Parts: sequence; structure tokens; C-alpha cells
Amino acid sequence: MKKIEIELNERSYPIHLGTMECLEHAGAVLVVTNPKVGGLYLSYVLGRIRAREVFVCTIPDGEAYKTLESVEMILESAFNHRLDRKSLMIALGGGVIGDMVGFASGIFQRGIGFVQIPTTLLSQVDASVGGKTGVNNAFGKNLIGLFHQPKAVYIDPLFLKSLPPREFGAGVAEIVKMAVTFDREFFEELERGDLRDHSFLLEGIERCVKIKARVVAMDEREQGIRAALNYGHTFGHVIEHESGYGHYLHGEAVGMGMVMANTLACGLGLLKESEAERIEKLLARYGIPTRYTIGDVERFYDLFFLDKKSENQKIKFILPEGIGGVAFRDDLSKSMVLSVLEAFCD
Ligand code: NAD
Repeated sequence: MKKIEIELNERSYPIHLGTMECLEHAGAVLVVTNPKVGGLYLSYVLGRIRAREVFVCTIPDGEAYKTLESVEMILESAFNHRLDRKSLMIALGGGVIGDMVGFASGIFQRGIGFVQIPTTLLSQVDASVGGKTGVNNAFGKNLIGLFHQPKAVYIDPLFLKSLPPREFGAGVAEIVKMAVTFDREFFEELERGDLRDHSFLLEGIERCVKIKARVVAMDEREQGIRAALNYGHTFGHVIEHESGYGHYLHGEAVGMGMVMANTLACGLGLLKESEAERIEKLLARYGIPTRYTIGDVERFYDLFFLDKKSENQKIKFILPEGIGGVAFRDDLSKSMVLSVLEAFCD
């Protein structure tokens, strides 16, 4: 098992890569999962936990349930089982479970520890690392939440064996995002290799985790460079909101969002058309949808303002600057942005 340390002073923690070893905790533990993941992996994980008491809380599956109601269910389970401030919550699932357990553990009795056991590719390469937690509401995506770092992350490739191809593609979208924004060489390797090859995939996961750990260590609270990881998300969050949570997978919406961001970047001379084509081609190779049809550009534009990155009524766009670089732009006129959005109307 490999170990990558995320350096955050007193909040530093290890990310374990490989077959899960024993997880020990002196107090009580609440494992939170959903019926699908629990059915597949709960006994595998329970067999690796040594704790005073271990309880399980099962919540409904899916992005549509990434809500305050589900967080209440987790909190109620924690109170019913008399968890205390020395207890630990464990998130066993994809990014949806991870974000909600992170949030629930961050507010239970003003904050207790939690551990991430990510089971989707997307959550292994991105969501489980870095301490962003939260839920969606009627106004948009991840608008309620807090920064709360886990105590440890266990990335076990075994879980990926049961992942449906569409979920795999959604994870690849986040891998492509990391490569485009931070690592040109990695992007070129992705063009040459195939992530369906197990050893290449493991290398890719490790590479992403290292990028994420480095970026989070530099900018834990997203005051600067960490925002680069939101490439594709400004558009992607609106796509998820507009199409109804769960219609497109989060990673798919990010993939389509990256293609929109690329069009904007090309218009500004930040990205070459040929580079935009290479990114789109790489996404398409894994079956990730790359084209979203916008029904109403004005409405789409207005929804940007619900994004957490928009400040003082200015939308902050995260755009690729070539492959391997990133630019932040909050000075774009409405007409410029609308002209890009119109290119995505039927
Ligand atoms: P998800 O958690 O909904 O999981 C996708 C589906 O796969 C679910 O049905 C789940 O039950 C199932 N599943 C999980 N593991 C499985 C396995 N091993 N085998 C078979 N099925 C499995 O979705 P996701 O793509 O993992 O995460 C998306 C969420 O992550 C979004 O809500 C997004 O906002 C969030 N996210 C958070 C961060 C962060 O930094 N906190 C970063 C990126 C994304």
C-alpha cells in the first residue's frame, strides 16, 4: 500500500493507495453508505475496521438525495447510536456520500473526525481529497457546506471493478480536468495510453491524487489556485441544475462544461482550436458526452450567478491556457459570454 501525505499542518492526513488495510479507532464508528455500495462492499470494509463499536447508516442513493434531509438522517443515526465527540464517521461510497458525510461530521457536535473510503473513480481521483463537503438545494449545487478535512482517505482499486462504464467515464472527465489544468505531460500520456488498462489506471489515480494534494496544501480554502480545479464546473453546475440532478452524472456535466469553457478560451486566444479538439477527443474516447444543447441562453447565463465563485455580481471563469495551464477571468462582458452560449443552442 502506498501512502501520500497531504500537508496541512495540524490537519495533515494520509491518503492510502492500494488494498485497504485495517482501520483502527478507539471510539465508536458510524459507517455511512447507500444500498448499492453497502450491498457490494459493506462486509469487506467492516472486516477491516477495529473499533469499540461499529454502526451502519444507510441512506438513499443518488445526486437527487444530496440534500439536507439526507444529512439529517445521518445526524439522527449518530444521535440514536449515541456517538460522541471522540467518535468517527466513515463515508463508504462515491462523491455524494463523501460530501454528505464530510458535512454531517463537520456539524455533529461542532465537528468530529471522518474518514473517506471512496468507491467511484471520480471520488478516488478528486472528491475524497481536500475537505470540501456539502449538499445541493433548490438554488443550486453544493451551495450549503463547509471545509472539513478527513482524518484519512483509503483508495482501494478493488471497488472500481463493479463500476458501470458510464460512472467510469464520469471519473475520467475529472482526470482529464486535472491534466489539462496542471500537467501537460500527463495529458499527453492520457492521449497515448488507455485508462481501461489496470496498471495505467492506477498510475493515473496516483498522479491525480498527488496533484490534488499539492493544490490543496497550497490553497486549502480556495482563495486562489485551488479554483483551477473548477475548470468545467461553472458551466457544468448550470447543466446539472438545468437538466435536473441525476440526469447527467456530475462528471458528464463537467465534461460538457469543459468543452464550453474551451470554446470561450479559444475565443479569447488562450487555447488553440487544435488543443480544444484534442481535449474533446480524449473525453469522447471514454463515452463522455461533450455537447449540451442550451434551451435559453439568458436563463443559463443568470444561473452562473448562483455559482460560489461569482463575487460582486462578477462571474469567474476558469479557462485552460494552453494544455497544462489555467487562467481566471472575471472581466468578460455579458455579450461575449452569450455569443459562446449561443454556439451551443440547436
Ligand atoms: P455518486 O456518489 O452518486 O456515485 C455514482 C453511482 O455509483 C451511485 O449510484 C453509487 O451508488 C454508485 N457506486 C459507487 N461506488 C460504486 C462501485 N464501486 N460499484 C458500483 N457502483 C458504485 O457520484 P460520484 O460521481 O462518485 O460523485 C459525484 C459527486 O461528487 C457530486 O455530487 C459532486 O458535486 C461531488 N464532488 C465533490 C468534490 C469535492 O471536492 N468535494 C469534487 C468533485 C465532485
